[in-house]
Amino acid sequence: MRRCCLIFSAAFLLAAILAAPRAAWAQAASLTGPTPVAPPPDSTPQYVRAGKLFDVRAGKVLPDQVIVIRGGRIERVASASEQQIPPGSRVLDLSRATVLPGLIDCHTHIMLADTDNSHYEDYLLKDSYQFRTILAVLNVKKDLEAGFTAMRDVETEGAMYSDVDVRNAINQGLIPGPRLKVATRGISTTGGYALEGYAPQVTVPMGVEIVDGPYEARKAVREQFNYGADLIKIYGTDRYRFLPSGKEVSIANFSREEVQAIVDEARLKGIKVACHAYDGPGLDYCIDAGVASIEHGIQLDDDAIHKMVAKGTYLVPTLQVYCCALEKADLAMSGGKTSRLAIHKASFEKALAAGVKIAFGTDAGSFPHGTQAIEFEWMTRYGMSPLEAIRSATINAADLMGWTDDIGAIEAGKYADMIAVDGNVLDDIKQLEHVKFVMKGGEVVRNDYTK
Ligand SMILES: [Zn+2]
Repeated sequence: MRRCCLIFSAAFLLAAILAAPRAAWAQAASLTGPTPVAPPPDSTPQYVRAGKLFDVRAGKVLPDQVIVIRGGRIERVASASEQQIPPGSRVLDLSRATVLPGLIDCHTHIMLADTDNSHYEDYLLKDSYQFRTILAVLNVKKDLEAGFTAMRDVETEGAMYSDVDVRNAINQGLIPGPRLKVATRGISTTGGYALEGYAPQVTVPMGVEIVDGPYEARKAVREQFNYGADLIKIYGTDRYRFLPSGKEVSIANFSREEVQAIVDEARLKGIKVACHAYDGPGLDYCIDAGVASIEHGIQLDDDAIHKMVAKGTYLVPTLQVYCCALEKADLAMSGGKTSRLAIHKASFEKALAAGVKIAFGTDAGSFPHGTQAIEFEWMTRYGMSPLEAIRSATINAADLMGWTDDIGAIEAGKYADMIAVDGNVLDDIKQLEHVKFVMKGGEVVRNDYTK
């Protein structure tokens, strides 16, 4: 989701890395999702004293813990009475803080740096890929410093394969940023994405790769995989309108055959598909075809929810992005009757009650990067417990990303990706908007506790 209001207010009211010498670890990683950062050369153990350690799996806070880190990964987690710290060791003192796993955002757009979702056309018409990549470098730094140590970036919005370069630069240690899985261009059909609304004789850039027919759909997956995509992002629906009753109606982009071709081809390549969909046939085709996640899902009916539970399809809700400017635009469009935010609330509550798997995602880029932890407040405001909201951004998100063995919890064997905040996050979820310590792969990115 991005520029939505722009378009509809009018209508309805591993690859770049290939160019450079590649380390062996990067090559191997690209086949399974390019997680791993090259391990730090210094394998001397370091110790983190955690005054409180949030055990995300057990759902409780453990007092006085010691985390042993070696070579970027967690070697051991134990109580201070069980784990001695040898004299002269490297020690990080977080005894005044609550330590949690690094946060994971499953729906970002690093190539967008919008403030209120209203500058989409400017990005595509006026900014070079190079300038947008410079902005992306700043964006990922902000995200990391806010506590997001991993992100699934769901398409470049017209900046082609620039996300692959950002991911590779992070993986090579050239710039700071979260571990990324990137979708590259995104895929939709003719009439199913921006830029739209121009005269037929005017050629405009597109925010996605446009395909028509199963053959082109399958070819686009192969192309994007070839140039470094870690996942495929499709737009099952795009245009929408509000009925006088207040109900929202979305138009399907793909045929059932086209979606199935994309999902089948992605499966052959070992990568997942994320599907932007609100409701209707465009949503159904995605769930039926076996996508890994539905993005937004603002108007899930009982049948869709039932199928998502049965198939284990994740919902990545992105609640907060529909407030504010988009809510105003929707109210204007619906004659004051409704908005996607209001519709989404009811849908989210139903999905939550039915047990749909939920992974944290925000659409950061449609609003400023580094501020997306506000999504936790929206999730809890709409009925999710603070524990489940935190799980959605840790163990659930790691599962959706296919990185369960590497991230999502503070456990032996996983990367030493962790954050620290004041106070108890179960009592005050907004603490996650004020992260004071960030570590990624054993390297300290931010530590306000030493100031
Ligand atoms: Zn989006």
